[in-house]
Amino acid sequence: MDVGKIVKVAGPLVVAEGMQNAKIYDVVRVSERKLMGEIIEMRGEEASIQVYEETGGLGGGEPVYITGNPLSVELGPGLIESIYDGIQRPLDMIRETAGDLITRGIDIPGLSRERKWTFKPSARVGDKVEEGDVLGTVDETVLVVHKIMVPPGVNGTLKSIERKECTVTETVAVVETGRGEDLEIGLMTKWPVRKPRPYKEKLAPDEPLSTGQRVIDAFFPISKGGTACIPGPFGSGKTVVQHQLAKWADAQIIVYVGCGERGNEMTDVLMEFPKLIDPHSGEPLMKKTILIANTSNMPVAAREASVYTGITLAEYYRDMGYSVALMADSTSRWAEAMREMSGRLEEMPGEEGYPAYMGTRIAEFYERAGKVVCLGNDNRGGALSAIGAVSPPGGDLADPVVQATLRVVKVFWSLEDKLAYRRHFPAISWLTSYSLYIPNLADHFVKEYGQEWIDDVNKGMAILQEEAELEEIVRLVGLDALSSDNRLIMETAKSIREDFLHQNAFDDVDTYSSFKKMVLLMALIRLFHEHAKDALENNVSILDIAVLPVRERIARAKFIPEDNLDEFEVIEGEIEKSFQGLKEKVLAEV
Ligand code: ADP
Repeated sequence: MDVGKIVKVAGPLVVAEGMQNAKIYDVVRVSERKLMGEIIEMRGEEASIQVYEETGGLGGGEPVYITGNPLSVELGPGLIESIYDGIQRPLDMIRETAGDLITRGIDIPGLSRERKWTFKPSARVGDKVEEGDVLGTVDETVLVVHKIMVPPGVNGTLKSIERKECTVTETVAVVETGRGEDLEIGLMTKWPVRKPRPYKEKLAPDEPLSTGQRVIDAFFPISKGGTACIPGPFGSGKTVVQHQLAKWADAQIIVYVGCGERGNEMTDVLMEFPKLIDPHSGEPLMKKTILIANTSNMPVAAREASVYTGITLAEYYRDMGYSVALMADSTSRWAEAMREMSGRLEEMPGEEGYPAYMGTRIAEFYERAGKVVCLGNDNRGGALSAIGAVSPPGGDLADPVVQATLRVVKVFWSLEDKLAYRRHFPAISWLTSYSLYIPNLADHFVKEYGQEWIDDVNKGMAILQEEAELEEIVRLVGLDALSSDNRLIMETAKSIREDFLHQNAFDDVDTYSSFKKMVLLMALIRLFHEHAKDALENNVSILDIAVLPVRERIARAKFIPEDNLDEFEVIEGEIEKSFQGLKEKVLAEV
């Protein structure tokens, strides 16, 4: 192994000389302690190294070992249910071997070398196979069937394959490649984290990722394979939203990357996530989840690695044909790590000290999301949706990280602490959030729920916007100054906010809304509004409309269980009857 020598240590940055045989992004081992680092800049025979462990006590002259390999992760059964640090070291194993304080330089493989899996072949000897073809499966957890695939770049004929109880390093199949070489395939492969995994084709986003959260699915939907950004002012309900997405999003695999907010926040996630139950299966959510956490005693540079580790693991399950949701919290901390390293490299700073390439890095990260046709002869589809939390200082959306993120993501769920103070949950603002997927998803929505649904959503949004304008007037001259029509707008907007957008994550029924139920609920509100407009034209007073008892029925409709949706029809009947009654009363008075 080639060895260089440390010339300078500056926090997580180590500069070494004698590195002429190394390449940028090679992994190196620093000092006799073998601390893990990655070369981020080469100048002649000098290398700048980002070290993923505490560098205290290192000094000039100590050796730097060149491995010649890029930073890679191990891919295979055993990823699901794991809790890793940013460089794929299993945190529980580290604790077992080294106690609570992570010892530096500790080397534990990402996948257990002892654990045995049952490989069930689905391909046969003599089959022509190409990259991405599924050779067989392993039941990884009760919720995840792990597909063992021909690695990218490999094509040939299957020479042997066997059903086997084995560890991840044993051979389960042999492929004779075009060049006449025998390639042994085991349950495990490796992949460099900075390189996106290949697929056949990227598809346009045309299917929503249903989340069961009405404000998202109705007004600001994300597509399968889409990208979204969510800011999280403290106390705005970010944690609850993330848990709701993890529980209810229509994703078969969840990858959660915690880029260390404050140390204890990450501990919260590590404590909370394993307790969550997957509502669809009743199994622990961890049975389909991978957690990546930067522990507080790792330097900030490790956040860089964790983001790439996370998205690579997510891509791997996408390649199996799954719908994967990746959540990164918070990407602002990642950007801050970039800023710190850039400062130490004495690069020319851009806006607020962030490096000029920050925007490109963020864009490249989100570009790894998407709906794709996977490699392999079965043309299976996979999707990787990426949701990044941002935490700008003081909640300021003009922050360069937020701006760089908003330039690439297509959905913005604007969590506002203002709404949270008013106890409007989820505190996603309907006035500032947006989804650019709506045009792509329109065909799907029309086909499934009819043009009426699109019209209802548009109308609903228009009413909410009108409300915001009318509120200004009310503040100046009072509610009584509004015309009856405008009073009705205010009433309907209130109903949309309270009866539709409010959603209690802690209520057994309300925590999740199917699309079907959402459509029915919105239709009730529209029906009431139309009848009310008609009634106003027939001289019914807005005051009488506002106090109709059927409004309470609409308000409670969100608590109707999914298996009793016929109840909506009953309420529709009651709305019609109520207005009939009002009109008759007016006629009688005339
Ligand atoms: P953050 O992570 O932003 O600091 P949390 O997600 O912990 O905030 O939310 C703070 C509190 O807000 C929760 O404890 C809960 O009481 C309330 N809350 C947030 N979202 C909801 C929701 N969808 N339904 C009901 N209560 C909510």
